[in-house]
Amino acid sequence: MKVIVPVKRVLDYNVKARVKSDQSGVDLANVKMSMNPFDEISIEQAVKLKESGTASETVVVSIGPAKAQETIRTGLAMGIDRGIHVQTDEDLEPLAIAKILQSICKDESPDLVILGKQAIDNDYGATGGMLAALMNWPIASAANSMEQSGSELTVVKEVDGGLQTVKLQTPAVITTDLRLNEPRYASLPNIMKAKKKPIDAKTPSDLGVDTAPRLKTIKVTEPEARKSGIKVEDTAQLVDKLKNEAGVI
Ligand code: AMP
Repeated sequence: MKVIVPVKRVLDYNVKARVKSDQSGVDLANVKMSMNPFDEISIEQAVKLKESGTASETVVVSIGPAKAQETIRTGLAMGIDRGIHVQTDEDLEPLAIAKILQSICKDESPDLVILGKQAIDNDYGATGGMLAALMNWPIASAANSMEQSGSELTVVKEVDGGLQTVKLQTPAVITTDLRLNEPRYASLPNIMKAKKKPIDAKTPSDLGVDTAPRLKTIKVTEPEARKSGIKVEDTAQLVDKLKNEAGVI
C-alpha cells in the first residue's frame, strides 16, 4: 500500500497571531512556523503503517513557499520515505490545494491519502472532502482509530455524542482527529538521515492546475480585547449586578 500525507506549514500553535497593520491578513514575518498539528498525526499514522509492513511507501507533500521544505523535512525525519514540494507563494484556497493533490494522486496512484481534519490557521476543514470528491474516492473523516485488512479499511470516527465505525475500500481518503495517535519526536540521527531523503520540486503550473482564488479577503481584524472582570462580595451582589448592570436577568 502506498500512502500520501499532505502537510501544511502554519503559524505555530503556541504563537499569538498578530494582524498586519493594513488588515490584509495575519503577519507571518519572523514568527515560528510549524507543521499543522493534525498533519503530525497523519505522518505518525503513515509511519506506523510502514513500520507494521502495511505500507510499502510513504510520501509527504506540502504546497507552499520555499520554507515548506522544512516542514517536509520534519515529516521525513519522523520516518516518511520521500517528499514532494509544490512551490507557490500564494495562499491557496482548499479547492486549489485539492486540485493539486488530485494531480499528484493521478501521477502517484496511492492507495491511501491521510490529511488532517483541518488546518489550524484557517479552520476550513475542506481539503480532504474536496480531494475525495475530485478523485471519486470514499472518505472517512475525523478518524479516531483505523485498521486495515487487504483493500478494506475500518475507521472509527468521532461524531456528535459518540463513535461511529465505518468500512471503506481503498483507494480512499482519511482525515485525522486528535485522538488517533501521539506523534513521535524526530530523533537526531533521523533528522540527519532525513537530509538525504529526496524531495521532488514542482509548481502548480507543472501540474496544470488553475489556482485562481474564488474568495477576496476584505479585511482581517483581531478579536475584541476582553474587559477586565470584577470581584463580588457575595451571591446577592452578583445577582444585583447581573440584573441592574449587565441586564442579563
Ligand atoms: P483545510 O481544509 O485547509 O482545513 O486543511 C485540511 C488538510 O488539508 C490539512 O490538515 C492538510 O492535510 C491538507 N492541506 C491544507 N493545505 C495544505 C497545503 N498547503 N499543503 C499540503 N497539504 C495541505
